Amino acid sequence: MQNFSYNCQYFSLKIAQKKHTSNIVFTISPSFVTTKMAPQTLSILKSNLPSVLRTKCFNDKNLSFEKEVVKTEIGHLFEHIFIENLSLLKIQNGFDYAEFNGRTSWNWNKEETGIFHIFIDAGKEDDAYFFEALKESILLTNSVIESSLSIYDFEQNKNGQPVMATRSL
Ligand SMILES: [Zn+2]
Repeated sequence: MQNFSYNCQYFSLKIAQKKHTSNIVFTISPSFVTTKMAPQTLSILKSNLPSVLRTKCFNDKNLSFEKEVVKTEIGHLFEHIFIENLSLLKIQNGFDYAEFNGRTSWNWNKEETGIFHIFIDAGKEDDAYFFEALKESILLTNSVIESSLSIYDFEQNKNGQPVMATRSL
């Protein structure tokens, strides 16, 4: 087993990679745990990775991922983005067929809010495209989070105190 840690801008990833599978601990601040605060999520996915919207999703409401994505946990979004990037890159690497499965779980009664456990059936055997898929998934997830930041900042500033800058010499 190999372990990797990444501190990304808004979240961190701890990956335990085995031959065929990987377990990922995805940790994010409680302020960013769902896509509810990022209304542009769907349009960001449509322009950057439209095929992710066709990935199958098994959720308790039986919603398609395209419907689910508007209001879902960010760890779950990352899981779908990662398996889609893995599939696309595997095909680009010359394989005729690619299928990956993922599962995201969390229990914020037992652990801190913002900790997700993601299981992916890609591992060391997928090293040829695993890290490229990971990098692209991190960048796209960051864009979704950043889109929420600008709205959040704007709303915060609407009724905020005047912002001032001073400079002394
Ligand atoms: Zn899903």
